[in-house]
Amino acid sequence: MADETPTPPAALPWLTLLPWQQDAARAALSHRSSWPHALLIHGPRGIGKHALALYFAQALLCEAASTDGLPCGECAGCRYAVAGQHPDLMRLELVTIAPDDGTLEWVDTISIDRVRGLTEFVHLTSHRQRAKVGVISPAERMNTAAANALLKTLEEPPDNTYLILVSDEPGRLMPTVLSRCRRLAAPVPTPADARVWLVAQGVGTPEEAMAQAAGAPLLALAAADPTIVAERRAWLAALAAPERLSVQELSARIDEGGKDERKARLAHALDWLTGWIADLARVAAGAPARHNPGAAQDRALSLLSRAVATARPSCPSAPAAPRGSCIVNRLPSSVLIMADPKPFGIAAGTAVGAGPARPGVLSLNIREKAALYAAYMPFLRGGGIFIPTSRQYQLGEEVFMLLSLMDDPNRIAVQGKVVWITPEGVQGNRTQGIGVQFTQDETGSTARATIEQILGEAVGSSRPTHTM
Ligand SMILES: [Zn+2]
Repeated sequence: MADETPTPPAALPWLTLLPWQQDAARAALSHRSSWPHALLIHGPRGIGKHALALYFAQALLCEAASTDGLPCGECAGCRYAVAGQHPDLMRLELVTIAPDDGTLEWVDTISIDRVRGLTEFVHLTSHRQRAKVGVISPAERMNTAAANALLKTLEEPPDNTYLILVSDEPGRLMPTVLSRCRRLAAPVPTPADARVWLVAQGVGTPEEAMAQAAGAPLLALAAADPTIVAERRAWLAALAAPERLSVQELSARIDEGGKDERKARLAHALDWLTGWIADLARVAAGAPARHNPGAAQDRALSLLSRAVATARPSCPSAPAAPRGSCIVNRLPSSVLIMADPKPFGIAAGTAVGAGPARPGVLSLNIREKAALYAAYMPFLRGGGIFIPTSRQYQLGEEVFMLLSLMDDPNRIAVQGKVVWITPEGVQGNRTQGIGVQFTQDETGSTARATIEQILGEAVGSSRPTHTM
C-alpha cells in the first residue's frame, strides 16, 4: 500500500519557510511528540503563515525527521509533500482543482463539501503510515456549515491526524472551532528582516513596496510586481488630480483584464484608494504620509490636503452641520464610497473588523442613539469612541476614523490613539474592540461636539456602555 501514490491532476504551489520563521518553527517542532491535533496559526496578513503551515505539514509527514523534529527535505514523504502530491496531505485553500483537466480555479469560500471531503480523508488509512494532515487556509473562509462540519473531527480526531488552520482574522472563526485549536502566533519580521528578504527577491524599491503593504513582506512582494506598480502609478496620478478624474476611465481600467482579473484589479484599486485617503487624512492632520511615500506624492497630498482643509467651513449639503463635519466633501464622491468598503452598524452588535486592507483606517457607521451612547467614551480627555473589531491593535497605536453618525451623509474624519483594548472572550461578554481617544485638535473637538450634541442629556447617564 505504501507506494500506491495517486497523482493529483495538478500540484498546488508549495511555499518555503521564510527566514524570520526559522526559530519559531524549530521551537514549535521541538515539541513534536506533543503536537496538537488542531493548531491555529494566526497573525497579520502577508507575513507567511501559510508557508509555516506547509512546513509543519511537511515535518509531520517526514519519514526521516531529525531528533529536533525538523523535516529532512530528502525522504519520499518530504518530496511528495513539496511536489504537492502527498497522499496523506489535504489542503483546503481558496483554489480548487478541476478533476478532469486539472485546471485551477480561485474561489471565495471553503465549502462544506470540501470540509466533508477532508473529514472522510482523515478517516482513511494512511498511505505512508506517518500521519494524516489537513491544512485549512484561510480558515475564516469556511462558511458556517463548513465550520460545523469540521467540529466533530476537531473534537475527536482519528489517531495521528493533524489539522492546521491558518487565519489572519481569527475573530471571525466560530468560538467552537477556536476553543478546539491550540494557537500559535506566527512570527512577524522586523522591518530590517523584511527589507533584506525583499531585496533578495529582486525588489529594487523595498521601502515603496513595504509602505504599500503596511510592512507585510509577502504583500510587499506582490505589490512590487512591475505590472501592478505601473497600474498603481496610473491610479495615483488620477487621484492626485481629482478635478480631472474620470470615474469612467478608472472603472474601464478595472475591466481591462477581463472577467478573471476583474476581482483582483478591484481589490488593488480599493487598496490604493483607502491608502490614499488615509494618507490624505494624515497629511491634513500634519503627519507624514504612510502608504504613499515619495516626493511627488508628498507634493500632491500636501496640495490636496489644503483643498480639504478649506472645505471645512462651508458645508453645502448641511449648512447647520458643525465645522469640520464635511472635511472630505471636496473629494470625488467615488472615493468617498470606496473609502468605506466594509461599514458596520454597532447597533447590530456585530464585532466585525473595519477596512480590510488598511488596519490604520476605520469606518464606523452608527445609526442609533443607543448604539452611539454605548460606544462614546466621555470620560476620556477630549472624548473618544469604542470600535468593535477583532483586529489586533497596540495601545498608543494611531488610527484614522471616518465616523458616519445617524445616517448623516457628512462623515467626520478624525484621528486618534488606541487607549483601551477589550480582548476577545473577556468576562461579562463584553464586545471585543478598541477605545480610541480623539486627537486634541479641531477635528477631535468637532467629533466630540457632534456626538455630545446628538446624545444630549444622555451623556451624563449611568447606564453601562461598551467600556464603563
Ligand atoms: Zn523527510
